[in-house]
Amino acid sequence: MKRIVILGAGESGAGAAVLAKKEGFDVFVSDMSAIKDKYKKLLDDHAIEWEERQHTEEKILSADEIIKSPGIPKEAPMVKAAMEKGIHIISEIEFAGRYTHSKMICITGSNGKTTTTSLIYHIFKTAGYDVGLAGNIGRSLALQVAEDPHEYYIIELSSFQLDNMYDFHANIAILLNITPDHLDRYDYCMQNYVDAKMRIIQNQTDKDSFIYWNDDPVIKRELEKYDIKAIQYPFSELKEKGSIGYMEDGEYTIERPTPFNMEQEELSLTGKHNIYNSLAAGIAGNITGIKKDVIRQSLSDFPGVEHRLEKVCKVGGVQYVNDSKATNVDACWYALESMKTPTILIIGGKDKGNDYNEILDLVKQKCKALVFLGADNTKLHNFFDNQGVEIRDTHSMKDCVAACYELAEPGDTVLLSPCCASFDLFKNMEDRGEQFKTLVRGL
Ligand code: ADP
Repeated sequence: MKRIVILGAGESGAGAAVLAKKEGFDVFVSDMSAIKDKYKKLLDDHAIEWEERQHTEEKILSADEIIKSPGIPKEAPMVKAAMEKGIHIISEIEFAGRYTHSKMICITGSNGKTTTTSLIYHIFKTAGYDVGLAGNIGRSLALQVAEDPHEYYIIELSSFQLDNMYDFHANIAILLNITPDHLDRYDYCMQNYVDAKMRIIQNQTDKDSFIYWNDDPVIKRELEKYDIKAIQYPFSELKEKGSIGYMEDGEYTIERPTPFNMEQEELSLTGKHNIYNSLAAGIAGNITGIKKDVIRQSLSDFPGVEHRLEKVCKVGGVQYVNDSKATNVDACWYALESMKTPTILIIGGKDKGNDYNEILDLVKQKCKALVFLGADNTKLHNFFDNQGVEIRDTHSMKDCVAACYELAEPGDTVLLSPCCASFDLFKNMEDRGEQFKTLVRGL
């Protein structure tokens, strides 16, 4: 019997274990941290052997194949040891893909994945399709394949998942954009990260579709290197050579396969970046043959996703916006770009190698103050001091919200769009966004 070892017992690892067991493998799960009770129960219910807070080498290196959770870096000692031994390492999505013939709609990009994935799911649900949400959001794809299969899956793929995908293929692949992110996991080499993102089109045939942002210089440059078999659906902000989706005179337009248009004003998501996300999602629905009315309705009644340009409330005429998910500079750029009123911007946290030059012009144009929020704000001070924008230094959400309250005047917007990961002061970006919302609502 083939032995499968799963490293990491979160949503993807626990799900992969259940599917592997169902497919008759000898399964072992190992996690260096504590495993959540709900996953322990899931593993126990399926009589799967597991360990936590340790990696027992002989139990792991006896594997024929390893399924690695996306959060574990390739430099982790046990991963290195497995690679040295020549053990094949795959991701949960790659594994699940072997056991299903369902249609896979896969979304990647540096920013906009969750928004676009959720929007496509919303379109398919509204159309009455049998559809599952998987990947970085929703339930594990492997678990759904094992226990609750769907005809379609809308899958958010991070570069970490794509890293360990080899034979999987997307029926519809969507590449939203490529800007620097997670470089700490790619030997600080942008090309390594770009190569991971481009895996979204691997194994596609002429029966498949490839939707991508035609304005992105990195994507355009990369595409010249590939022999693309899939039917291509490039989209851009404005009508441009080759693009089949764009905005023209305030009209959201898709040229093919089925000509479609609607007023830009009807789109529920605002901001330039969300035009791109709405185009990508609408094209995916269009390719699948979903009726125009359903696409139009879904694009206009989508409620948005928490922690992404989420309007919290107005206090004393000041609009508070939670964009905690903006964990890189590009995401913050789009948030700032969409601001229509003087803005007090909260930035800071765990810096992943940011270059703040990218937002400097917008900060000068739109921000009346910057509130730094991090355990260590030195890099922010070095960059933004002496740029002519008022600055406050804070190290807790409580102090940060108090500083914003003091600075803001009626008509202003307070925007939490931190450019950084949250792990220095918060459990995760959700915790950061929740703390912000709770304190703002208490003002
Ligand atoms: P991801 O899942 O890729 O992290 P999200 O949809 O969660 O993307 O959005 C993350 C952040 O990026 C949010 O702050 C959002 O405002 C911003 N954003 C969303 N879509 C785009 C886009 N197409 N281009 C640039 N930034 C975007």
